[in-house]
Amino acid sequence: MSGVKVLIWGLGAMGSGMARMLLSTENVRVVGAIAQRSEKAGRDLGEVIGLSPVGVKVTTDPDVAFRSKPDLALIATHSSVKEVAPQIKYALKEHADVITIAEEMAYPWAASEELANEIDRFARKQGNTVLGTGINPGFILDTLIIALTGICRDVRHIHGKRVNNLAPFGPTVMRTQGVGVTPEEFAAGLESGEIVGHIGFRQSVMLIGRALGWEIDDIVEEREPIISRVERKTEYVTVAPGKVAGCRHTARAYSGGKEVIFLEHPQQVCPEDEGVKTGDYITIDGDPPVRMAIEPEIPGGIGTMAIAVNMIPLVINGPRGLVTMADLPVPRGLPGLIKSH
Ligand code: NAD
Repeated sequence: MSGVKVLIWGLGAMGSGMARMLLSTENVRVVGAIAQRSEKAGRDLGEVIGLSPVGVKVTTDPDVAFRSKPDLALIATHSSVKEVAPQIKYALKEHADVITIAEEMAYPWAASEELANEIDRFARKQGNTVLGTGINPGFILDTLIIALTGICRDVRHIHGKRVNNLAPFGPTVMRTQGVGVTPEEFAAGLESGEIVGHIGFRQSVMLIGRALGWEIDDIVEEREPIISRVERKTEYVTVAPGKVAGCRHTARAYSGGKEVIFLEHPQQVCPEDEGVKTGDYITIDGDPPVRMAIEPEIPGGIGTMAIAVNMIPLVINGPRGLVTMADLPVPRGLPGLIKSH
């Protein structure tokens, strides 16, 4: 692991946080950073992310950034396979491994079998590894569930639920979850595609199905508004009583006509204002049955940055091609890799 050279592609909330984590390690070197906005270009990465200068210039030009010959690119730019595929292919062309937190990349065949296979073929040809990960999809409602089934001699049904607080997130998330709008605007937003709820249920379901050998024949998703009874306030939004505080999104997956997986993700700002506790819950109807509860929720931001960074050694040493969290060794925190300051 010593001296792994990493490039960060995308310096938003997650990319900047990953850069901060990596800059405080001894055995990983951040050698490049690609931003989209021209005002970040030409500036020192440390300054752009609120630290002292680190001697790495941010650029908007991948050709310039990849002159640093990174071993691995961490991509934190977009959510869909279609949007990140050109960036992944660019990194592979330069013989870099890839970790991305694009939600659809957690199981990219669900969104585009053609693009996923193309990335897989190219990664194998180049002798590199590509992984999609994150807190969810990527860990709580899939990898953790899969790991828990490891002590079951029979698994009949899985129920996963993540109750989280959206308050730390910014305007993009507020918009895509419909926070602050009226119930009528929420319905119109769902119709137009502007309000999407959670991105990743199909990926989590398919990942679990692949790991357990279940043929998934159908996935039914439902989204409904969480209407607030009280006023809820965050840095970015104020939700008046009667307006939407978030989106209750669910997915039911069927195999052989029988429901085998039920995932729930009610996401809202300040759930505690109405006495709702956050948490992550997994119930496996199996032999033996399993009931797991983590309260409060595992924080999504830090969790995403950490798992992406912690997977670096497993990806660097991973098999060639496009892999999933179910194909690699169990994730682990790497105190030797991440120095806490
Ligand atoms: P963000 O909006 O804060 O940051 C994205 C950044 O990428 C922005 O700064 C944008 O300018 C930049 N960008 C976009 N296209 C670019 C390009 N071509 N070149 C360089 N930079 C580019 O979002 P975020 O919170 O940092 O999250 C990043 C992505 O990861 C989002 O799509 C988010 O939905 C996803 N995400 C996934 C998980 C998970 O659990 N899998 C968790 C958190 C975020």
